Amino acid sequence: MLDTATAAAGNKTSGARSFDAIVIGAGIAGIYQLYRLRALGLSVRVFETGGGVGGTWYWNRYPGARFDSESYTYGYAFSEELLKEWNWSEHFSPQPETQRYLNHVVDRFDLRRDIQCDSRVKAADFDETARRWTVTLDDGERYNARFLITAVGPLSADTLPRLPGLDRFKGRSFHTYRWPHEDVDFAGKKVAVIGTGATGVQVIQTIAPLVGELTVYQRTPNWCTPLHNRKIGDAEQAAIKANYPAMFELLRQTPGCYIHNTDPRGTFEVSDEEREAFWEKLYAEPGFSIWMANFRDMLTDPKANALFSEFVARKIRQRVKDPATGEKLIPKCHGFGTRRVPQETGYYEVYNLPNVHLVDTRETPIETITEAGIRTSAGERAFDMIVYATGFDAVTGAFDRIAIRGTGGRLLTEHWADGPKTYLGLMSSGFPNLLTIVGPHNASTRCNIPRCIEQNVDWISDLVRYAHEKGVTRFEPTTEAEADWSKHVEELASGMLYTKVDSWLTGINTNVDGKNVRRVLQYQGGAPQYRARCDAVVAGGYSGMVLR
Ligand code: NAP
Repeated sequence: MLDTATAAAGNKTSGARSFDAIVIGAGIAGIYQLYRLRALGLSVRVFETGGGVGGTWYWNRYPGARFDSESYTYGYAFSEELLKEWNWSEHFSPQPETQRYLNHVVDRFDLRRDIQCDSRVKAADFDETARRWTVTLDDGERYNARFLITAVGPLSADTLPRLPGLDRFKGRSFHTYRWPHEDVDFAGKKVAVIGTGATGVQVIQTIAPLVGELTVYQRTPNWCTPLHNRKIGDAEQAAIKANYPAMFELLRQTPGCYIHNTDPRGTFEVSDEEREAFWEKLYAEPGFSIWMANFRDMLTDPKANALFSEFVARKIRQRVKDPATGEKLIPKCHGFGTRRVPQETGYYEVYNLPNVHLVDTRETPIETITEAGIRTSAGERAFDMIVYATGFDAVTGAFDRIAIRGTGGRLLTEHWADGPKTYLGLMSSGFPNLLTIVGPHNASTRCNIPRCIEQNVDWISDLVRYAHEKGVTRFEPTTEAEADWSKHVEELASGMLYTKVDSWLTGINTNVDGKNVRRVLQYQGGAPQYRARCDAVVAGGYSGMVLR
């Protein structure tokens, strides 16, 4: 119901074609960017591919989708009234609640009239004479604006596996990102899930008790740790709200803007007993504490990392009854936390159920999807449904899907062909007046994302206001500033273990041509240092940039 309503509301936008700013995407970033630019008195149009607002929380409706940041740390911080009036019902909110929240924000601040849904941007061209961007939608309609701001999200270019026969399957099949709006009935069904990242884990643990039979196709196991979600009672709700100022101050100080802060001790600076007790405590704590608040060397020292990985491996062995299955679920090729850690609720116990089967696709590779199901080197299994939890062409993928042409008609994808080149992860040289919220080289994809989004949006809004006030019609970073920033980002990542591992964090996606070389996509210096660098650029009169 919501989707029809929001799509209709989206179509009520004015017939104007020319704006001060165009924003691509009406997720968390696009919504807040619209709010800030509107407050500056600018005319803005937001184009959104989906039939409603919410971005990631509009699309990812798969069973079990929920936060793994604490809900109250994730909501917008810009409005005290909003913070006071919104009650999160659980510590880690489920997707429907988050989608309701984002719709509430859009309506509360009267933002919907500038959001045009069902409108995918396919191209954006910079006109050097007019110093304006022309945006072309899928249907051929064109709009133009002085400033173009992408709010396309790091995980919005979904990818299906490169397997023969995908179209041949006669049952129902879905990528988790494209989950149907109506309920899917699993009762008695034979279901396959391909993929065991954070998404696959949430789906698997949620549908296992509902289906007739579940077969999980796992290529690489991940180190999953307990989420420990709970409902929020009235007294706790009041306490959370009373603590908002202190909590947001803490979030400004931690590297990832989580309530969890790195433990200052080194793994080998404590006794064996103390270390074990500390890790037991982390394992029993909610959320990303175990990843973010672990010993300071856990993600940089291979020995420290191996010891902790062994601790988590012991937990997996304890929780999975069949030792052979337990071993298959323990990662052997990467250490804990070097890939995004899936947060789970009873995930490992799922494999103790008689109706759940695990197929290791490194032992028996998938050969093809068939009319009836999936054939591996060990034979064919028949299914009623196949769920593709196969992830995304992350961070740069959404940019690759729009033909963004800067000066001289140069494509952004060409500019980034050997890896992203950016200034502050927010701009690229040769692409004037283009700003990329949550772009590559930005702190935001290693962050409790709304916190870093708010910082990105505030910084961009200040720049746009400055340009507007000073009559600046064109700005872009210098090639030197871009090269320096890109080098700085590479250097920050160089000591980190995750750079030696294939995952979306390093830009690897086996289902996309050209995404087989590891790249540094994130700023690893932490959000406070990133914020300081951005602020220093402003204090220096937008140093590293040419404003005309
Ligand atoms: P992902 O982590 O990239 O996982 C994709 C899975 O599909 C992997 O297990 C991958 O195996 C498998 N796969 C891909 N192609 C395959 C193929 N051709 N054959 C067999 N297996 C294949 O994607 P995701 O699970 O959607 O998660 C992406 C990110 O979204 C997460 O890391 C997280 O940041 C975010 N997320 C957040 C939440 C939350 O906040 N609660 C929830 C879900 C997701 P390999 O590992 O071998 O490549």
